[in-house]
Amino acid sequence: MKNLILLGPPGAGKGTQARTLCETFGFVQLSTGDMLREAKEDKSELGTKVANIMAKGELVTDDIVIGLIEKKLASEKNNKGFIFDGFPRTLAQADALGNLLKKINYNLDCVIELYVDDEKLVQRIIGRFSCSACGELYHKITKPPKKPRICDTCGSEDAFNYRQDDNENSLKIRLLAYYRDTSPLIGYYHALNKLRKVNGLGSVNEIQDNIRNIIL
Ligand code: AMP
Repeated sequence: MKNLILLGPPGAGKGTQARTLCETFGFVQLSTGDMLREAKEDKSELGTKVANIMAKGELVTDDIVIGLIEKKLASEKNNKGFIFDGFPRTLAQADALGNLLKKINYNLDCVIELYVDDEKLVQRIIGRFSCSACGELYHKITKPPKKPRICDTCGSEDAFNYRQDDNENSLKIRLLAYYRDTSPLIGYYHALNKLRKVNGLGSVNEIQDNIRNIIL
């Protein structure tokens, strides 16, 4: 069993890499962003509470996201390991994750930092969209669907979804939150000897190979 964290700014490719690693190795992806978007869509009490914060690009409070992860760790059993995508994002979250894993006797094997310069992040984020039926990720310029309006993976028609926070204003705030609150985790995991760095520029397959070489 392997448990990994994918760390990196918005648009670094964490979601894309997590999906591919799950397909190949049977890991379970734990994305707090996806969990929060689900809560928003279900119009649950939690979803309504966090909708504004997410639209602005700010961070949701630690207790909310730690609670979501704790619940998932308790309900998802018998798998090849977890990929934490977009969690932890603060030092308090990192401490909480360490304690949660210890409680259930799981190890954190490694933290992969995907690094990409800011200019590239903006290009990647402005123009990305996904299939709301199967979650496949696309980009207007770099990865359009083969047939317009139809998902290559599941064939759904007109089911594409643009994230509300993928705009230049929110992105500025999300980047600020990354450098202010999340990037200290690079030092934190380096000190624990868990950190590995992977260049987030390049094709999805190249990056995937580099990650595989680290985790296998
Ligand atoms: P993501 O899909 O990971 O880019 O997350 C989208 C948004 O959800 C973020 O901009 C935050 O508002 C919120 N979010 C997701 N994960 C976390 C987290 N671990 N801590 C705080 N806020 C989060």
